[in-house]
Amino acid sequence: MAETADHGGGVRSIKVFIPDNPLGHTLVYVVDTDRGPVLIDTGWDDPASWDTLAEGLAGCGTSVDEIHGVVVTHHHPDHHGLSGKVREASGSWIAMHAADTAIVRRTRETRPGRWFSYMTAKLITVGAPEEHVAPLRDAAPRSTLPGFSPALPDREIVPGELLDLPGRRLRAIWTPGHTPGHVCLHLEEQHPSQLPGNGRLFSGDHLLPEITPHIGLYEDPDDGTITDPLGDYLDSLERIGRLAPAEVLPAHQYVFTDGPGRVRELLDHHEERLTGLRALLVEPLTPWQVAERMEWNRPWAQIPYGSRNIAVSEAEAHLRRLVKLGRAEAVPGTEPVTYVAV
Ligand SMILES: [Zn+2]
Ligand SMILES: [Zn+2]
Repeated sequence: MAETADHGGGVRSIKVFIPDNPLGHTLVYVVDTDRGPVLIDTGWDDPASWDTLAEGLAGCGTSVDEIHGVVVTHHHPDHHGLSGKVREASGSWIAMHAADTAIVRRTRETRPGRWFSYMTAKLITVGAPEEHVAPLRDAAPRSTLPGFSPALPDREIVPGELLDLPGRRLRAIWTPGHTPGHVCLHLEEQHPSQLPGNGRLFSGDHLLPEITPHIGLYEDPDDGTITDPLGDYLDSLERIGRLAPAEVLPAHQYVFTDGPGRVRELLDHHEERLTGLRALLVEPLTPWQVAERMEWNRPWAQIPYGSRNIAVSEAEAHLRRLVKLGRAEAVPGTEPVTYVAV
């Protein structure tokens, strides 16, 4: 039976299972409006997850075909996976920030082979050893990737504007970092139990009670811009902290209060990480070597293949931040490029 919760004031949540993932589930929120229920995120595209969503909606006194709209916090498959199926069943709209819609569009158009060659080149640039790069090169010609045809949204979430939800005040707050088009949604209505603070915040993956979201590079084969995702993320965190919501409704784990306190913890965590990283750069290191030396939730030797790619992307995001802050620089003429503290 699907697990649902009533958060009061016409907001409920459904725990939608994510297969083979330590996160366990996505919290899909059901917000009542005068035109029917609107979903915030939809969950992973898997038959069992779809059944949970349908059951959960029944538990909330509605059904999939009643859904008026889908608001997606960001393009990741545990959030946007089932959006297309919901739209098919109900005729609802799907709204997403333009920067993430651009990723969805490119994902739909990019052949897996192109993606593999991009990743191969990228890993060589950051100094990955040959034994790490080789399997990717070999897999490229015959691989298909899951999630390569996500649903194309038909509405744009415009930062700072109220969404078109009759009878509700839900404002989009652009919070890039975890993805370039991540948004939090601020329900600007008095908290139903009068908790102190400014309304409630649907925080997606931006602000979670016990997890630090992954901040890597915005991997895009067709965009050569040197972005600073960690800088974006830290700015977005401060924006959310200043909002001081009475309650935070995240997409994973559980609902919590004291959003500003959690923001401070995360800001401190990243500051500590940057300081630790700079201390490593007494000698020039490639992003790969940095990743090997950084602290993760387990020793580097035990980190599985796919997670190493994610870790090196996170290491590079931290390096870019240090460079931007003038606390490190790339050593001219090195290939693969190395970084050193300044
Ligand atoms: Zn995510
Ligand atoms: Zn997520």
